[in-house]
Amino acid sequence: MRLWITVIMVIATAINVKAQESKTMSESEIRSKLTPMQLFVTQEKGTERPFTGEYWNLFERGKYHCVVCDAELFESDTKYDSSCGWPSFFDSKFKDNISEKPDYSHNMIRTEVVCKNCGAHLGHVFNDGPQPTGIRYCINSASLKFKPFNEK
Ligand code: FE
Repeated sequence: MRLWITVIMVIATAINVKAQESKTMSESEIRSKLTPMQLFVTQEKGTERPFTGEYWNLFERGKYHCVVCDAELFESDTKYDSSCGWPSFFDSKFKDNISEKPDYSHNMIRTEVVCKNCGAHLGHVFNDGPQPTGIRYCINSASLKFKPFNEK
């Protein structure tokens, strides 16, 4: 009996989390505004092929927002050339907008990076980044929207 109560509570919590993740936008709104690659990455936890995205080789000054909900995620002053083929950041000024979750998919132990506001999958974070943090946020271009600082 106690086991069933626990199971039901876990399921209820999962449903609640899912509902909160999509609170800002309906699924049809998200589908109509994103490209197939943006949908694959942000909604299905997909990964774009390295060196194919829009931003892996971009080093202009500006801010990277969530492509789904526009939350601020990263800034160009913490972006660096990691040569991995994906946009890489050693830190974020907007940690309140980012959450990290354990990810055991594909026979790997990784830490997934997610937009805290809308639940969009962004990428993963690894411990092989440069100082001063030693971490590397490895983020799919398809989950980001770059806005240069001179743009109003
Ligand atoms: Fe978002």
